[in-house]
Amino acid sequence: MNYLNLYVKLLFVEQLRYWPLAEKNYQALSEVETSRMLVRGRETKLQFNPERIHSSAANIDADSLKNRPCFLCKENQPKEQKRLPYKDKYEIGVNPYPIFLRHLTISSIHHERQQIKDRYEDMLLLAMELKNFLVFYNGPKCGASAPDHMHFQAGKKGMLPLEDLWKKDDLEKIISENDSTLYRVHCLLPVTFLIRSRMLSESVQLFNRIYSSLVVKEGEYEPMVNILVWKENSEWLTFIFPRREFRPSCYNAEGDENILISPATVEMAGFFPMPRKSDYRKIKARDIEQIWREVSVTEEEADCIISKCKAL
Ligand SMILES: [Zn+2]
Repeated sequence: MNYLNLYVKLLFVEQLRYWPLAEKNYQALSEVETSRMLVRGRETKLQFNPERIHSSAANIDADSLKNRPCFLCKENQPKEQKRLPYKDKYEIGVNPYPIFLRHLTISSIHHERQQIKDRYEDMLLLAMELKNFLVFYNGPKCGASAPDHMHFQAGKKGMLPLEDLWKKDDLEKIISENDSTLYRVHCLLPVTFLIRSRMLSESVQLFNRIYSSLVVKEGEYEPMVNILVWKENSEWLTFIFPRREFRPSCYNAEGDENILISPATVEMAGFFPMPRKSDYRKIKARDIEQIWREVSVTEEEADCIISKCKAL
């Protein structure tokens, strides 16, 4: 019997009653403005969400990280925050700055750097147990606002355009492991790979092959990547978005060109929470297309990843 879903439900009931910050922000989220936009025929969602300023504009350079108390470490958490232990490795808590109507942070019990290597299996297990949730990972330079403290996030299913979009694609098969397969999803910008698997061990093998085919930049300890996993009809679906840039050029642009978007998994999956009303009003489909093009790997790099993967 899986009790985790029930415990998470109870956690939300408790936290929304006794943690004023969470109560206020989840109430505000239920009233935020959202809109839809077609980007090269692809459905995309925008959300005006002022509280996201905390993550969109997070300073994650080494000095800033060293000089701030880590908000995922137990000793720095608000006294109202409650956490559910998970497998002696993680703690599950309500995210007080949500973009999903139910939004969790799943953080390591230790202060250790953000790194997916050897932890992908944990994502699969979480996605299996949190069956109403999508589980996602933002690499240390791909949207994580605490790259010095290992964490995943989980958001309630039904929010991301990608959840349905991928089904319309003619998937290109790259490699298989028995009944599990790694595909390229062609209908999507940015570059997207997908693992479909009913077997945990096969999914891990395919993930390890694509992970070791991604380029690690000089001075970095892991390839730039966003990962999204959920379970549907007894199948795990893992979306992998290889990245080449941390932030798009519009993030640092002057004047009217400036748009405060620092892409993480949800943006790669077609959902854009925007902390500034002016950005929310002015953003155009071509801006989103450009953001994806700038932060995603190029077509040539995608071909390289595919060749490497096949050769392994
Ligand atoms: Zn920490």
